[in-house]
Amino acid sequence: MSIHAPEAATKILLDEREMPTRWYNIQADLPFPGSPPLHPGTKQPIGPQDLAPLFPMELIKQEVSQERYIDIPSPVQDALRLWRPTPLMRASRLERELKTTAKIYYKYEGVSPAGSHKPNTAVAQAFYNKAEGTKRLSTETGAGQWGSALAFASKLFGLECMIYMVRISFEQKPYRKSMMHVWGAEVVPSPSDRTQVGRRIRAENPDSTGSLGIAISEAVEDAAGRDDTKYSLGSVLNHVLMHQTIIGEEALLQMERAEAMPDIVVGCVGGGSNFSGLAFPFLRDRIQGRTKTRFLAAEPEACPSITRGKYTYDFGDTGEMTPLVKMHTLGHNFIPDGIHAGGLRYHGMAPLVSALVDHGYIEGVAYPQRSVFDAAVQFARAEGTIPAPESAHAIRAVIDEAVKARDRGESPTILFNLSGHGLLDLAAYDAYFAGTLSDVTLSEARIQELVGAL
Ligand SMILES: *Cc1c(COP(=O)(O)O)cnc(C)c1O
Repeated sequence: MSIHAPEAATKILLDEREMPTRWYNIQADLPFPGSPPLHPGTKQPIGPQDLAPLFPMELIKQEVSQERYIDIPSPVQDALRLWRPTPLMRASRLERELKTTAKIYYKYEGVSPAGSHKPNTAVAQAFYNKAEGTKRLSTETGAGQWGSALAFASKLFGLECMIYMVRISFEQKPYRKSMMHVWGAEVVPSPSDRTQVGRRIRAENPDSTGSLGIAISEAVEDAAGRDDTKYSLGSVLNHVLMHQTIIGEEALLQMERAEAMPDIVVGCVGGGSNFSGLAFPFLRDRIQGRTKTRFLAAEPEACPSITRGKYTYDFGDTGEMTPLVKMHTLGHNFIPDGIHAGGLRYHGMAPLVSALVDHGYIEGVAYPQRSVFDAAVQFARAEGTIPAPESAHAIRAVIDEAVKARDRGESPTILFNLSGHGLLDLAAYDAYFAGTLSDVTLSEARIQELVGAL
């Protein structure tokens, strides 16, 4: 084995004073009209007052804002500086192992207290709620990444936090629940007996293992029924995607410093927030015709909303309580199989990502979970960091692109988002090594059955 002379820098760090101080709102630059959310009862476009029981006014304004940049309030900046700016890394060891002519960079969001990108929006949402007098936040969580991020942020800003956690994860993934407890949140398995929706689903199906769609309905009902409580969502919504753009704004500065602008930007997509956070600042240049950067969104074959779902109006939840939004969806009754990337098991996709896919700015790719874990292990053995199974979907796409580039004699620069670490997902790695992971693919007939009714 040869010891390599250091060539390019491995790690590009920003000083904490260089942290971007405003978010990028891509709504200002879209070259096509948006599709407004519709009221679940009247099916007419909703207004700010319809959302007021659930969200503070400042977040409702951000949801529909046409301002290109929105200043990050200084208490939010202070909170973000607990872990930001995050490092940009060159994956030179992976490049050498793949014998690729591509250059591979990644933005590492696993350094946050909760271990993923999710605290970027959690601290902003907690701040605006606190500022407008909210006492308590309710939310849902699947595998627990969002719940732990919001528990942490709520504690920072002095709010109570109530979390409906999908029952199967509550039972199978105890450690993220432990994190939520450390940060002072209350966590119940969903469906629970705390809400009408939960009681109804339990009466119909006492063994229900729950789903994100059900847990969202419970958290929304909780917030709608109490004056002191608002609801908080960890992905999908425009304001959430905007809060994540600090990732891409930092990455732009870091890539400039590395003198390497990306030809391909890659991220995994569940609801679309970490992908958008990295991609939107680079998409700004593509929309304005300054670059030809490609944008690649990677999802599981078991929950293929952008590659195989229908682009149409659908509910965000199973209980049909949320507004209808136009998105790529597998139908709000879809309960995906228990794949190990819990964060990618949402039936829909952010409306902004969906529209950009529909207009050809973003390409979707889907992978079966075994090939995703092949990529995760290859990455961990080359670069050290053990990726979250969600993030490993992006790594699968990057490795495939890097190998293609090698075979064609091309040398693109690839940038991807390593959205979180996998240190609380080691049971999934054990299953991979034990050979008990199975690949789940949806049949076309099943997809037609799910989306046919929409
Ligand atoms: C939640 C989560 C995701 C998926 O959510 P997005 O909103 O699509 O980013 C991806 N990676 C990690 C580590 C997560 O926790």
